[in-house]
Amino acid sequence: MLRTHTCGELNAAHIQKEVTLCGWIQKIRNLGGMTFVDLRDRYGITQLTFDHATSIELSEKAQRLGREWVIKATGCVAERHSKNRNIPTGDIEIIVEHLEVLNESLIPPFTIEDESDGGDELRMKYRYLDLRRNPVKNNILFRHKLSIEIRNYLNNIGFIEIETPFLIKSTPEGARDFVVPSRMNQGEFYALPQSPQTFKQLLMMSGYDRYFQIVRCFRDEDLRADRQPEFTQIDCEMSFVEQEDILNTFEGLVKHIFKTVKNIELTDIERISYADAMKYYGSDKPDARFGMRFTELNDVTQHRDFKVFNDSELVVGFVAEGCAGYTRKQLDSISDFVRRPQIGATGVVYLLCMENGSFKSSVDKFYAQDDLKAIADKAHAKAGDLLLIMSGVTEKTQKQLCELRLEMGNRLGLRMAGEYKALWITNFPLLEWDEDTMRFYAKHHPFTAPKPEDEALLELNPGEVKANAYDLVINGTEIGGGSVRIHNKVLQQRMFKALGFTEEAAQQQFGFLLNAFQYGAPPHAGIAFGFDRLCAVLSDCDSIRDFIAFPKNNSGRDMMIDAPSAIANEQLKELGIQIKN
Ligand code: ASP
Repeated sequence: MLRTHTCGELNAAHIQKEVTLCGWIQKIRNLGGMTFVDLRDRYGITQLTFDHATSIELSEKAQRLGREWVIKATGCVAERHSKNRNIPTGDIEIIVEHLEVLNESLIPPFTIEDESDGGDELRMKYRYLDLRRNPVKNNILFRHKLSIEIRNYLNNIGFIEIETPFLIKSTPEGARDFVVPSRMNQGEFYALPQSPQTFKQLLMMSGYDRYFQIVRCFRDEDLRADRQPEFTQIDCEMSFVEQEDILNTFEGLVKHIFKTVKNIELTDIERISYADAMKYYGSDKPDARFGMRFTELNDVTQHRDFKVFNDSELVVGFVAEGCAGYTRKQLDSISDFVRRPQIGATGVVYLLCMENGSFKSSVDKFYAQDDLKAIADKAHAKAGDLLLIMSGVTEKTQKQLCELRLEMGNRLGLRMAGEYKALWITNFPLLEWDEDTMRFYAKHHPFTAPKPEDEALLELNPGEVKANAYDLVINGTEIGGGSVRIHNKVLQQRMFKALGFTEEAAQQQFGFLLNAFQYGAPPHAGIAFGFDRLCAVLSDCDSIRDFIAFPKNNSGRDMMIDAPSAIANEQLKELGIQIKN
C-alpha cells in the first residue's frame, strides 16, 4: 500500500512515529518560513508541515501544490503547538521529509467544504467532487451502514437474498415502465422492473420461504420533488404467514435499525386503520409526532344560518393549543396558507377560545356564544386554544386540513428533528375507483388478497372490499408497504376481472403467475421498504437524492454523464427501430 495510515487516525499516541499518508489537499497556508497543508481522505484531515529551515527545496515544492492535488507525504508525527480541538487528529502534525505528487488537479469548480459555494446543478455535474464533501460522504456511509444492518438482521432470522432479473416483461398495470428494445427479437421490448413483485411471489412457490433483496426498481413517472426514476427497495416476502407475522417480523427489523444506526429504542409501532388515519389526520401517512387530531363537527355546526357549512359534506377541525392569542396578522397568514393554489381552499374558519370563557370567531354573525361553546367542546378546545375549521367535500377537505395541520405543526415547532414516530396503517381498501377512466384500480397492486370475509363482495361491491394490506409510515413519510397475497388462480382471475381485464388479457400478461398458482402455491405475504427514503427520514433529510451516490435531477437527467442521450443511427438500425427524417 502507498500509505501507512489514513488521514483520520493519527493522534498523540503516534508522536515520533514515521508515517506515510496519501490524500487530497484541502487547504494550503504559507506563514513565513512554514507551509501548512491540510491533507484529506475519506477518514479525516491531518495537518502536514513543511519547514523552510529543514529543507528549502521541499518547502518550495509544497508552495507549488494546489487544492485537490493528490499527494503522498512521509514524515514524523509531532505534537502540534496550536491544537485543533475540533478534529480527532488535532493534537498532531506531520513534519514532512518526503513529498510525492501523485496527481495534479484543476481548480475545482466549487469549494470542497461542508458549506460549498457550488449550486445544485454544478455539484450534480461534478458529482464525483461533491461526493468528496463531508455531508455527502456521511450520507453515503450512513446508507452503507444501514444496508449492512438490514442484511445482518434478515440473515439472522433466515432470510436469503436472491437476485431477480432486470430485463422483464412490460405490463400496463401500475406506473409507466421503462422499456429496453431487444436486438435479437426485433420489434419486442423488455421492461425494467417497477419492483420484483411477481418474481418474489414465484420464489415462494419455489419454496424459498423467506426472501429479501436490496434491489433497484425503475418507474417512469413524472418526477416530483422526492422521486427518482431508479430507486432502491428492501424487498421481502415470506410463506406460511399472516399479516400479523409480517408486521411483527418487520417491526423487529425497524427496531433493530433504530437501535443500531440511531441508538434509539423505538417503542412498539402503533397501528391505525386506513379509515381512522383519514378521519383523524386526513392522510394515509400521518405525521404522528404531534396531536392535533381532527374532529368532525357537522352536528354542531350545521342547520344554523351559515350556508357554507350547511352545504358541506364534511365540517372538520383541529385544535391548536394555546394559540387563542393569535393576532389578526397571524390568523390572516393561516387563511393565506390555505388559499395558496397548492392547497386550493377558499378559506378557514377560526374560533378563539378566550381565557375569560368567551369565544371569538370569523363566523360570529352566524353563531351565538352557546353555539360556539358547543363547537369548542366537541373539538375538546379549552380556554386559550384556537380551533381551525374547514369544510367541503369529504376527501378534499380532509386533504386540505391535513396540509394545514402539518403547517401548524411546523409553525409551532412540533415536528421535531431527531424525534421519530412510526405507524402501521392497516385495513386499506383493496380497490380504488378512478373517475377519469371510470374503472377500479388496485390500491396496492393486483396481487393483494381481499380480506377473506370480503371476498364475496369482489363482484357485488368492489369498492367496499378491504385488504390485509399495510403501510409503514415514519414522521409522515410512507416508508414501506405490503400485503397478504392472492395464492389461488381463481381468486386472482376474479381480481383481474374486477380491474377490468378480459380473461385473455389477464392470461397474456400474467399467465406465468396464474399457471404457477396451479402447482402448489403456498400462502404468502410480503412488504417492501423504500431504502433511499428510509435513509433520508432517519437522517431528518427531505431529499432522497442526498443518499444516492449518482442521482438524477428533477427532469430525470444524469447531469454528469449527460443521460439520456441520442444514440447512433447504426445502433437504432441494429435494434430495428425506425430512424426519423
Ligand atoms: N412490490 C410492492 C411495491 O413495490 C411492495 C410489496 O407489496 O411487497 O410497492
